[in-house]
Amino acid sequence: AKYRHQSISIAQVRVIVRLRPFLPHEISSRNGRPISCVSLQESEASSSNEVTVLLKDQETSRNECFNLDGFFGQDYNNVGQIFDREVRPLIPAIFQGYNATIFAYGATGSGKTYTMQGSDLLPGVMHLAVASILSDCKCTGSSVAVSYYEIYLDRCYDLLDPKEKEIMVLDDKDGQMHLKGLAQMEVDSTSKFHEIFNSALQRRKVVCTDLNDASSRSHGVLVITVSTPCHESTKKSVTGKLNLIDLAGNEDNRRICNEGIRLQESTKINQSLFALSNVIYALNNSKQRVPYRDSKLTRILQDSLGGTSHALMVACLNPGEYQECVHTVSLAARSR
Ligand code: ADP
Ligand code: MG
Repeated sequence: AKYRHQSISIAQVRVIVRLRPFLPHEISSRNGRPISCVSLQESEASSSNEVTVLLKDQETSRNECFNLDGFFGQDYNNVGQIFDREVRPLIPAIFQGYNATIFAYGATGSGKTYTMQGSDLLPGVMHLAVASILSDCKCTGSSVAVSYYEIYLDRCYDLLDPKEKEIMVLDDKDGQMHLKGLAQMEVDSTSKFHEIFNSALQRRKVVCTDLNDASSRSHGVLVITVSTPCHESTKKSVTGKLNLIDLAGNEDNRRICNEGIRLQESTKINQSLFALSNVIYALNNSKQRVPYRDSKLTRILQDSLGGTSHALMVACLNPGEYQECVHTVSLAARSR
C-alpha cells in the first residue's frame, strides 16, 4: 500500500508511537525511580523502515513486541520534531487539492490532547499545521478556512457555533459526504486562528462540565481547508483539506467498570475506533472493500482516508500503564 508522492514514498496510513514522559506526581508515587514499560527494540535490519516497540510489564515481566512505522520516545519532548518529520511532508499535497488526516489515538491521559492541541506555551500539531500552511500560502496565494466539530455518541456538534448545533451528515448524489451547515471561518493569521480556536475550546469546556468531561469522550476534529488558485487548468482553484483529530480515549471495558451513560459512551467510542482500525487495515492491505460505513467517524473521513489521501496515526502511550499500552499498540499495529 505504498505509493509515490512528491518523491517521498509513504504508506497510505503511517502508524507511529509517541511515548510521553512520567509526570512529576507519577515519579514521586514511584519513589522517584519509575521504569517505563515501553522501549524501542533496536533492530538488526537497519535498512528496514519499521521499528519494533517492546512493551514489558514491570511486575510480571510479561512482554510483547509490535512493529510500527515510527517511534518518538521521551527524548522527543518537543512536538515540533514529530511535526517536522511526520506531518510537514503531508502538507504540499494539500495545496494541490489532496486531503490528509492525522489522528492522535490512545487511552485517556496518554498525551493525545497535549500532542494535537498543546498549550499556550507549547503549541501542538494543530497550531503548527496552521502556522506552516499560512506561511506556505505566501507563495501560492491560497486562502485558508477552518472548521471545528466534535463527534459525541455518534453525533456531530459544531464547535464554532455558539450553540454547538448538531450537524447532519448527508450523502449527495455522487456519494460524497457533506456536513450540512458546518461553520467555516476564514483564517489569515495565526493570531486569528488562536482567537477562533480558543473561544471554541472555552465553549467546549462549558459544555463538558455538564457532561462530566465529555472532551475525552468525544472525537475533536479540526479541519483546515486550503483553496489554491489554479493557473494551469480552466478550473478556478483546487481545494484540499487537512483533518486533525484528537480521538476519544479508548477504554478496555473488561478492565474499567462502566455503567449507564458511561458504558454507552464507551461502547460508541470503542465501536468507532475499531471501525477506524478496520478501515486503515483495509487500506494498507489493499483490500477491495473498505468498511467506511461502519461508523460516523469513518463515514465522515471517507474523502480523507484512502484514495489519494495520506494519513498518520499517532498512538500515544503512558509509560506507567502496561495493559493500556498493549491495548493501544495492538490496535494501532493491527491497522498497518
Ligand atoms: P489525553 O488527551 O490523551 O487524555 P493529555 O494530553 O491530557 O492526555 O495528557 C495527560 C497529562 O500528561 C497532561 O497533564 C499533559 O500535560 C501531560 N503530558 C502529555 N504528554 C506529555 C509530554 N509529551 N510531555 C510532558 N507532559 C505530557
Ligand atoms: Mg484529551
